[in-house]
Amino acid sequence: MFKKIILSFILSSIYTFAFDYNLKPVKVTNDVWCFLGKLDMPTKENGGFMSNSCYIKADKSYVLIDTGANFQFAKQAYEAMSKIEKLPVSLVINSHSHDDHWLGNNFYKETFNAKILGPSLINKDYNENSNTRMHQVLSKDDFKGTKIIPVDEIVNETKTLKIGNKEITIIPVGTKAHTSEDLFIFMPNEKVLFSGDVVMNGRVTSNRDGSVIGTLKALDMIKAKDWDYLVAGHGLDTSKTAINDTVEYFSLLKQRVLEAIENETMGTEITKVVTMDEFKDKPLYGELNNKNVYDAFRELEFYEGD
Ligand SMILES: [Zn+2]
Repeated sequence: MFKKIILSFILSSIYTFAFDYNLKPVKVTNDVWCFLGKLDMPTKENGGFMSNSCYIKADKSYVLIDTGANFQFAKQAYEAMSKIEKLPVSLVINSHSHDDHWLGNNFYKETFNAKILGPSLINKDYNENSNTRMHQVLSKDDFKGTKIIPVDEIVNETKTLKIGNKEITIIPVGTKAHTSEDLFIFMPNEKVLFSGDVVMNGRVTSNRDGSVIGTLKALDMIKAKDWDYLVAGHGLDTSKTAINDTVEYFSLLKQRVLEAIENETMGTEITKVVTMDEFKDKPLYGELNNKNVYDAFRELEFYEGD
């Protein structure tokens, strides 16, 4: 009898406990809430919740900016938002093609038939059989329900949408910045800007598919917009200072790597010469900084600009 109880307890704990994200929406400003992810790499422990996913209330429906790392995350995010107001989701906008930002798409498609807008790279680089980084990190159970579905409409030029009582402009960066196709999303009336991963704060960025020069250009485009709130792709600061970490990191990275090249530093030595000490205590410095420096060297080796 006792054995049976133990056995059924073990079985039920295997089969009934889905990953609980314990999600609390953060109100950024009127009609905008975000789920702000951990300042970490995707791990089993954080369930892949390490990027930001936001809800805009557009009168009678929600518009989503990025959908997180899987179906379960998206479902739990919607449940948490339903406690504020239960509205359908009419539109999903994906800021870029990295999998931590859009693997929740199919929850919104299946539940609301939401239209999905994004960069073409999601459709080019992925199909239903793709083995993404999240597939490799998360267990089958945590990934239950997740399906890779295509973006419905590619955004490759600036597009202004009127949805309910909201005006939303989607702006492609137009050059390789964090990826070769980044979108940022601007709400001029509310003065809110969603930067995608062109901006991260409170952690060291990952520039594995990006460009130092392109990111600095994209940061200038973002600075030129009139916003009071900025939601980064990763990071908890959504205030006027949200952009500062990234501006400082990429400006110093460019300046120091160019200086090192001028002093005839070799690629093999660059990470010893350019150490970006100001960022040493930020999360992910150990995991990402050396690679960012090395990639910057490769990019800037033959750079002719100023
Ligand atoms: Zn990301």
